[in-house]
This record gives sequence, structure tokens and C-alpha cells, in this order.
Amino acid sequence: MVNSALTTSPSLPEQQQLWSWLHEVPDPEIPVISVVDLGIVRDVQATAVDGEVVCTVVITPTYSGCPAMAVIARDIADAFKRHGVARVEIQTRLSPAWTTDWMSDLGKRQLKSYGIAPPAQQVIDISGISRKRLLAPKVACPHCNSMNTICISQFGSTSCKSLYRCKDCLEPFDYFKAH
Ligand SMILES: [Zn+2]
Repeated sequence: MVNSALTTSPSLPEQQQLWSWLHEVPDPEIPVISVVDLGIVRDVQATAVDGEVVCTVVITPTYSGCPAMAVIARDIADAFKRHGVARVEIQTRLSPAWTTDWMSDLGKRQLKSYGIAPPAQQVIDISGISRKRLLAPKVACPHCNSMNTICISQFGSTSCKSLYRCKDCLEPFDYFKAH
């Protein structure tokens, strides 16, 4: 006897819905930015397994071994569970490596409003080959937009950032390193 009537497939959330849930998850280090605008969410899928909705979220850490990733994985799982998803699987994809180019324009504006200078554009040399980005590029002050800034230390509050100071408004600020 087949009991197929008892195992009805759950209705799966739409892609748009899944992404809106992900938008609710802030980056633990820079809470004004969602993990989506930070560019670390690579993929999300919903499938039905044994009558349950299972969501798989693929994330690429900003740095390999970034300690925030465990927190991010937990926060994503919590957000999905709040929306009734029983099972959430987080997969980490290390290749291709995360690049600051994956940060959205909104994310860069949010970073700046938070007082952190957003990553500079990629440097392309005349041979057309993209070079490793400058260690201490010219960075606009997030407070007054002056370009009259100086890198004080390659390492700011975290290894992802350098510490700068504005020579006009004299405020120190973090620069989110491009990589
Ligand atoms: Zn300034």
C-alpha cells in the first residue's frame, strides 16, 4: 500500500523570498551591511526532503579563516528558522576567493556612512593585467571626503582593514582593504 497522500510536498519559498531573508542578516563586524550586500552569499536553494523544506546557502568568507564566518553561518540558520525553514545547510565555498568587487554599491555606501572608507577600485596597469591592489592607495575620508589622507597602519581594527587619518578633519578612520 502506498502512502503517498501523507507525504505532500511542502511549498518551497521563491528565490526572491530566500534573498530577502538573507538581507535580514547583518555582517557581525559591520552590522549596517547585510551579508548579501557584503557579497559573501554566493547561492541559495530550497528543496523538499522527506516533506520538509531544506535550504542550502553557499557562502564565501571574506578571508579564509575569518572568525566571523561561524557567527554568520549561525545567524543565517537562525533567520531561516524564524521563517519556518526546518533545516538550513551552510556550505562554504573558498574558490573563487571573495573579492571586494562583490560588495554591492549599497554596501559600499553603508560602509562609508558607518565611518569606514570603502575598498578602492581595482588597479589596472597599462598592459591590461589586473595587478594586486595597492597596499596603501589614496583613500577619500569617509567623514569629509578629503583625499588628503594618510595610511597610519596596514592593520586597523581587524586584518581586513587599514588605519588611516584625514589631514583635513584630523579624524582617524578604517579603510576596508580591496582584495
Ligand atoms: Zn576628513
